[in-house]
Amino acid sequence: MEELRCQGCGAVIQTTDPKNPGFAPAAALEKETLLCKRCFRLKHYNEVQDVSMTDDDFLKMVSSIRESKGLIVHLVDLFDVSGSLINSLPRLTGENEIILVGNKIDLLPKLVNKRRMMDWLRSQAKAAGIKVSDVFLISAVKGHGMEELTNKIETLRKGKDVYIVGSTNVGKSTFINYLIKQSTGMEQVITTSYFPGTTLGFIEVPLDEQAYLIDTPGIVNKQQIVHYVSNKDLKIITPKKEVKARVYQLNSNQSLFFGGLARVDFIKGDKTSFICYFSNELSIHRTKLEKADDLYVNHLGEMLTPPDEDTMDRLPKLTENSFRIEDDGKTDIVFPGLGWVSVQGNITVRAHSPKGVAVSLRKALI
Ligand code: GDP
Repeated sequence: MEELRCQGCGAVIQTTDPKNPGFAPAAALEKETLLCKRCFRLKHYNEVQDVSMTDDDFLKMVSSIRESKGLIVHLVDLFDVSGSLINSLPRLTGENEIILVGNKIDLLPKLVNKRRMMDWLRSQAKAAGIKVSDVFLISAVKGHGMEELTNKIETLRKGKDVYIVGSTNVGKSTFINYLIKQSTGMEQVITTSYFPGTTLGFIEVPLDEQAYLIDTPGIVNKQQIVHYVSNKDLKIITPKKEVKARVYQLNSNQSLFFGGLARVDFIKGDKTSFICYFSNELSIHRTKLEKADDLYVNHLGEMLTPPDEDTMDRLPKLTENSFRIEDDGKTDIVFPGLGWVSVQGNITVRAHSPKGVAVSLRKALI
């Protein structure tokens, strides 16, 4: 039997185990737009209903990309790459060429090694099964890198349409607004949404007599932490300007909490610095490892905030993963959607993050 995948998160659909990824009730298989139960709920909970597009239109839109010839521009959020990469992209877009664009570069510290960031982006895309022909770093808000990108799009599209695809909240509306303003001088043709799931889709911007730049509806990706936090908390965890390094000299058996949304434990190794890059507004608490569990139980939502009450109702439980890090240069421990911690040395750490928002390692960007 052909494998069915959720159009939201790309998980293989199954109808037997509600607790496992890809679960959908049997009746959902009859629907034209196949979503797992979780994506279905996220979609509706986040009022994607506001989008003036029915599920049927969404499917038509997506399959029309497969059937047409065009250039795919996949926008991702540099602060949440694993949460904003669309794993099912090649299945949705067929044979069309894909370029990968990392947005919100203005939020990263200026010292970030851009080349390494691009290499990392490319490897993340490859691991997700997405073959990309080029990678760009931009800031749609500031306009950084936009000229180079638009020139490249013009060369690569060879007279064809351009499809802009991205998960909700990656800055797709901001990006398209920028292009529209550039080409027409008009402002705010599409309303940008601060909150995920409210992007309006299907805007077509003429590129020449025959071709269009086509905005596609934001795709809900369940790995995005933004779907689990309240609007108030989202404002705290989303950096508004360049993130500043916060440095902690830690001995083993010490822990750091990032609000109450994530935590890192220093399990083994010599004293070393933990350099933290998170929204400047997210508070960081240092504690002894032996006290960390109690602190979490007793002070979640107070000293350890965010989460606020609203977020606590829907945030998945924290799960932990241990990492053995070798001393071959600095390593970043990446908490998707929140930030990262840069460490060095032969050390063992344990990282805690909301279930489904998987922590990963990369060669340090700074
Ligand atoms: P969409 O859901 O993908 O259409 O995303 P929006 O365009 O509504 O943007 C989501 C959030 O990210 C908004 O708060 C934007 O202001 C912000 N944003 C978009 N692009 C950038 C950028 O280049 N830099 C920064 N710092 N924020 C951005």
